[in-house]
Amino acid sequence: MTFSPNIANLRPSATIAVSTLAKKLRAEGRDILDLSAGEPDFPTPDWISEAAIEGIREGRTRYTPAPGLPELRKAVAASLGTGIPAGWDLTAESVVVTSGAKQALFNACFALFGPGDEVLVATPYWTSYPEIVELAQATPVFVSGAADRGFRLTASDLDAVRTPRTRGLILCSPSNPTGTVYSLEELGEVTRWARDNDVHLISDEIYRKIHFGDAEGEDAPGILDLEPESVGSWVLVDGVSKAFAMTGWRIGYSVSAPEIARKLSALQSHTTSNAATPSQVAALAALTRTERAAADIRDMVAAFRRRRDLVVRLFREKLPQLPVLVPGGAFYLFVRVDGEFTEAVPDSGAWCSRVLEETGVAMVPGAAFGDDRYARLSFASSDEVLEEAVRRLAAR
Ligand code: PMP
Ligand code: GLU
Repeated sequence: MTFSPNIANLRPSATIAVSTLAKKLRAEGRDILDLSAGEPDFPTPDWISEAAIEGIREGRTRYTPAPGLPELRKAVAASLGTGIPAGWDLTAESVVVTSGAKQALFNACFALFGPGDEVLVATPYWTSYPEIVELAQATPVFVSGAADRGFRLTASDLDAVRTPRTRGLILCSPSNPTGTVYSLEELGEVTRWARDNDVHLISDEIYRKIHFGDAEGEDAPGILDLEPESVGSWVLVDGVSKAFAMTGWRIGYSVSAPEIARKLSALQSHTTSNAATPSQVAALAALTRTERAAADIRDMVAAFRRRRDLVVRLFREKLPQLPVLVPGGAFYLFVRVDGEFTEAVPDSGAWCSRVLEETGVAMVPGAAFGDDRYARLSFASSDEVLEEAVRRLAAR
């Protein structure tokens, strides 16, 4: 059968493919330790679920406006707009509520880029970015900072890949898959470069609250922490999936200048309309009951920090042949595995398959994130599972 050129290069999501395979093997009775999944292992806090149930009982089951419930858009603007420098002037008009952050990324790329455009993708990248750019018929161009500085980009890295066709840059901090976090100064260097080169910046800040900084409860720096003059054209992508353990509810949002938001909303009005109404009601509770939410997030981030320390220590002690980057945020460990490549195991895909076969530990090949030397391990799992996974990897 022939398919449209729209999906000529489309591959299914590798992260989802590995976690689906892990679930299948487990259902077949294999003893699988699934460290592939990119989602918190905590349940959604009860009080958030209850708010949705109450909303359904009250009949909040109909369409909302395409860009979301007005009170949710307002709550997003208020939550992101608190404590940022003067001059940003965030209002509900800036916000478009989407079916997961993934749709916010899709809306932004589809609305801003097209044939002939080049979009810089900070590498290692989250696996869906290049696919989404290609769905917009634009060309992803990969750009990586030096590995010894956690791959963070500088203006000169960006200068080296810029062409007259460069129209966009997708950045993710804290990064999936590396856990790298940009400092405010580093972020400012990148936003000023994008501004000066007339490049739309898409800043994926979905892991911002999962940050292991010096001060407990301090979010990772984001573009809204910068002076507005140092940011040109921007779309911020965020959502409740990670910070509130709400991956299955499918609520994300984009925040941008209202002029861009109106286009994103128009696009969405012809694809999915509004994000599911009960899920929006749940997200509204998550974003407005701020004290309760902060306490739950603090507990979850404390658990992730403890596990981060645990896996980094265990890898260094028991698996010194597999060096790791110490993540400053998110819940992934990016493990350098090419030291174990052989003729029979020549790349990260083969390495992950071999490890899954021999030990039952499921990880995602670095090739899915644009760097074949690595594999990604999610530490959103219990201490026991993480300890057992390292034990099995070391016993090979
Ligand atoms: N951006 C990044 C970096 C992610 O890891 C994810 C997780 N899948 C998303 C966006 C999409 O989030 P959501 O599940 O809200 O669509
Ligand atoms: N963001 C997660 C991951 O990277 C979830 C899976 C997906 O949406 O790709 O594994």
